[in-house]
Amino acid sequence: MNAIPRQKPIFRFAPSPNGPLHLGHALSAILNHDMANEAGGRFLLRIEDIDQARCTPEFEAGIFTDLAWLGLSWEKPVRRQSEHLPAYQDALQSLIARDLVYPAFLTRGEVKARVAAGVASGSPWPRDPDGTPLYPPDDRLRNETERKRLLDAGLKHAWRLDMEQAIAVVGRPLHWQESGDGERGDILANPAAWGDVVLSRSDAPSSYHLSVVVDDAAQGVTHVVRGLDLFHATSVHRLLQALLDLPQPLYHHHRLILGEDGKKLSKSERDTGIAEWRRQGWSPAELRRRLGL
Ligand code: GLU
Repeated sequence: MNAIPRQKPIFRFAPSPNGPLHLGHALSAILNHDMANEAGGRFLLRIEDIDQARCTPEFEAGIFTDLAWLGLSWEKPVRRQSEHLPAYQDALQSLIARDLVYPAFLTRGEVKARVAAGVASGSPWPRDPDGTPLYPPDDRLRNETERKRLLDAGLKHAWRLDMEQAIAVVGRPLHWQESGDGERGDILANPAAWGDVVLSRSDAPSSYHLSVVVDDAAQGVTHVVRGLDLFHATSVHRLLQALLDLPQPLYHHHRLILGEDGKKLSKSERDTGIAEWRRQGWSPAELRRRLGL
């Protein structure tokens, strides 16, 4: 009898070209690359450029230059999210057809005002694990006639997941296997903490959460290695994978590289960019040491 061919492990580094790569990205990219090599697997690079207002070809070119300088090689062609919009649309449509998402019309200003009014009335407004106030229930509670009227009037809207409904439809606790630098082992997902997450925006055809699960499945990703800042987002990803019947990868959320102020690095801090370290004459080997690798 033929042995069932074992799938090669597939790792991916998935930066957004909306700024220069910093040391945290270097750590992520190197870990993915090295873990893929050690496992005899494949290393993919994915360009997460859904947000066309902030992503530029120059930043994308910078990513290629920085990664090549670090000595990494990746499979080509790279997947660019902007070239796969129909895939995210299909996923969204399937959720619309099952009544698991709703059109969300509140503007940023309206959300702020609702939250402020809620707080003023004495009840603390719930926040998601990133500290953002949960989306108010107004749009979820609209009836069909009202929704249709607003959609027919051409009002700008996003699509949000009806979290309670989505959890009820899945109907079982969700877990993931974690091997990273924080909590490890079998992790119980808590998607409810995120409230009605956005799956497509009025100004962008998909959201991070939706495109990341669609892409990981489309590329056969078996190992997701990324920063601990995305640990809690995995709860949403597990829920979407369950709803869309997508396979579940293994997860490894690695330590974050902090700036001198002890805060997470951000892309706007150009001085910590990889290109800057290169200009200052650092070698890739020194950079690896600086990262504790
Ligand atoms: N594109 C995300 C970022 O640059 C990473 C997404 C992921 O690894 O799941 O932060």
